[in-house]
Amino acid sequence: MVYQSAKRMKVVVVGGGVIGSAIAFYLTDAGADVVLVERGELAGEASGAAAGLLIPPDRAAAPGPFRDICLASLALYRPAIDRVQRESGVDIQCRAAGILIVAQTESRVALLQAHAEWQTKHGVPTRWIERAELSELEPALSPQVHGAALSEDELNVDPAQVTRAFAFAAKAGGADLRTATMLTGFLGRGPRVTGISTNLGDITEADCVVLAAGPWTEVLAQRLGAKVPTPPRRGQMISYRSDGLRHAIWGEDGYLVPKAGGILYAGATVEDVGFRKRTTPRALASLRRMATALVPGLRRAQVAGEWAGLRPGSPDDLPIIGPLPQKENVYVATGHFRNGILLAPITGKLVSQLILEGRTEMTLEPFSPARFA
Ligand SMILES: Cc1cc2nc3c(=O)[nH]c(=O)nc-3n(C[C@H](O)[C@H](O)[C@H](O)COP(=O)(O)OP(=O)(O)OC[C@H]3O[C@@H](n4cnc5c(N)ncnc54)[C@H](O)[C@@H]3O)c2cc1C
Repeated sequence: MVYQSAKRMKVVVVGGGVIGSAIAFYLTDAGADVVLVERGELAGEASGAAAGLLIPPDRAAAPGPFRDICLASLALYRPAIDRVQRESGVDIQCRAAGILIVAQTESRVALLQAHAEWQTKHGVPTRWIERAELSELEPALSPQVHGAALSEDELNVDPAQVTRAFAFAAKAGGADLRTATMLTGFLGRGPRVTGISTNLGDITEADCVVLAAGPWTEVLAQRLGAKVPTPPRRGQMISYRSDGLRHAIWGEDGYLVPKAGGILYAGATVEDVGFRKRTTPRALASLRRMATALVPGLRRAQVAGEWAGLRPGSPDDLPIIGPLPQKENVYVATGHFRNGILLAPITGKLVSQLILEGRTEMTLEPFSPARFA
């Protein structure tokens, strides 16, 4: 629907994770009247549990719409960060730490050398580093590592701060931010929704509603008669007190990410265990093995934290972004799986364009919720 009236369009966004917050920011910025509802606190779920790496995943290496939105989001990140930090006063703790994708086995060397060449050809300068140079660059790395592909420019961020920055920048632009507010039902009959009910009362006269409720989107869509599968994919993570690494390290079984304040994240598992958001001794032990295989000195490092989060999945591992089938004024933005922090800016921008202009600068067709109808 293209909104043409002189009145500002009223949009209710459900979910105060990174996706709902980015959508609230871009909509507010484009002139909409936004109410963002979050049942708990901002970034209280996956968006606060993530590592905050902004690296397009392997599958994005194949040309196609998924790679296109990953790269488009990456290109938006620095300008988006500058703006939302300024307007929200929230420090995103963006670090251009760079990443080393390491070969822990001889058989990975040729693969990673080819990866470095491919990345460089596609605009991400990456060079192969032999063992000797690697020892100088990251002395704490295990001598078992054969070499690594280094991209100097890769960013990492504090994902909870990114979420807050988008939400508070939206608020500074006029959005109504309501935490501890849970959607409990939809108002209206027939093909149009006119608002939502919440534990704190109704929000009425909505021109449209966006469901960005992470893995809980599926049950909300079900209430509107639509099928939008968003299986939770659990991820567990450990943090160490260690300032022994300068770069993020991507190994064969997991990754290490240096953060502010001498903290190092080690992650992450991918598990299909429903909505059980808890850590398990077995997964934590496997993360410790992964971490100490890369950096043996971590055996002596103090563990600072252990946690789990539920990523919003989808049956084909692609995001789900677009109009909800059978409803004229309900939209979905979820299913970002391992890439929601990376994909937040482009998702916010495209959903805002879709709602306010009825068209988007990049195709959303491959991500349409209608593919599950
Ligand atoms: C361990 C781990 C590591 C990760 N690392 C990275 C990484 O390095 N880079 C990257 O790009 N991504 C990473 N991710 C993935 C990323 O965290 C997710 O893709 C992203 O956070 C999803 O954001 P979201 O806003 O869709 O969902 P969520 O963060 O789950 O937000 C949805 C919100 O909706 C709210 N909600 C639900 N139901 C209702 C309701 N009825 N009413 C009101 N509110 C409701 C929830 O409380 C929640 O806050 C990682 C995830 C995990 C778990």
